Amino acid sequence: MKGVWDEHVAGTCMIGAWAGGRLECKNYTAVLPSVELLAPTMDSDAIMRYIEAAIRTAYKSEDRTGPGTCDRLLRHILASKHESTLEHFAMGFRVITSRGVSHELVRHRVGHSFTQESTRYVNYGKRKPEVILPWHLGRRSIEQQEFWFNSHVKLIDCYLTAVDNGWPPQDARGFLPNDMKTELVWTMNIRSARNMLQLRTAKAAHPDMQVVAREILRLWFQKLPVLFQDIEAEVVAGLANYKL
Ligand SMILES: Cc1cc2nc3c(=O)[nH]c(=O)nc-3n(C[C@H](O)[C@H](O)[C@H](O)COP(=O)(O)OP(=O)(O)OC[C@H]3O[C@@H](n4cnc5c(N)ncnc54)[C@H](O)[C@@H]3O)c2cc1C
Repeated sequence: MKGVWDEHVAGTCMIGAWAGGRLECKNYTAVLPSVELLAPTMDSDAIMRYIEAAIRTAYKSEDRTGPGTCDRLLRHILASKHESTLEHFAMGFRVITSRGVSHELVRHRVGHSFTQESTRYVNYGKRKPEVILPWHLGRRSIEQQEFWFNSHVKLIDCYLTAVDNGWPPQDARGFLPNDMKTELVWTMNIRSARNMLQLRTAKAAHPDMQVVAREILRLWFQKLPVLFQDIEAEVVAGLANYKL
C-alpha cells in the first residue's frame, strides 16, 4: 500500500522491526491490509474489445469498431448513464483486512460476490492468530500504541484459553477483536465497482475502508483507465491536502 499507509507504518515501529509487513507479537502477528487482483491475465485491450462488442449489440454498430473507438464509446456510455452495459465484465480481488472493515464491504449487495474466511470453521488455536494494524495507530503516542498491542494480547489470550478448554472455534470467536484479520475473495462487475469506489474512496468512508478501496481503484484504473479516471481524479484531487 502506498501514501498514507507508508506514513502509518512508519509511525508504528516502536515494538521490534516489521518484516515483510508483519510484526510478531506475543500471541498474535500484526499484519497490514492488502489487496491482490485475482486472475489478472486478461489484458486491457481484450477487456475493452469484449465490452465494446457487448455494447455495440445495442446499436448494431459493430462495423464502427476500430482503433480508439472503444474509448469514445465508453465515454458516451458514462455520460448517458447507460451503465447496465458495464455489468458484462467482472474482476475478483483477494482482500486482507479487519473483520470490522469486512462488515462494511459486504454491505454492497448488487453485483458483488464474496467468499470470506470463517471464524466458525478456522481454529486460530492451530495457527498463530493475525490482527490487522488499524490506520489510526500510526497517529497515536507510544503509550497508546502499547495499550493497543497489549489489549490484543489479552483478547487473543481469552480466545486461545477457551479453545484449549475444548470450546469449538464458533463459541470462542466472541473473544476475537474487531481488528482480527479476515480474508475475502471479492468479485465485482464494472458498474458495481464504480458505485462502491465512489462511496468508499470518499473522505466520509472509514479510513481503513478507504485503504482497501483505493487499492482496488488503483487495480481497476490500471486495467481500464477510461472507466475509472473520473473516480481516480477525485481521489487525487482530495489527496492534495488530504487529512484522514
Ligand atoms: C460513509 C458511509 C457510512 C455508512 N454508514 C452506515 C451506517 O451507519 N449504518 C448502516 O447500516 N450502513 C451504513 N453504510 C452503508 C450504506 O448504507 C450502504 O449499505 C452501502 O454503502 C452499500 O451501498 P449501496 O446500497 O449503494 O450498494 P449496493 O447494495 O451494491 O446497491 C447498489 C445500488 O443498487 C440500488 N439498490 C440496491 N438495493 C436497493 C433497494 N433495496 N432498493 C432500491 N435500490 C436499491 C441503489 O441504487 C444502490 O446504490 C454507510 C456507507 C458509507 C459509504
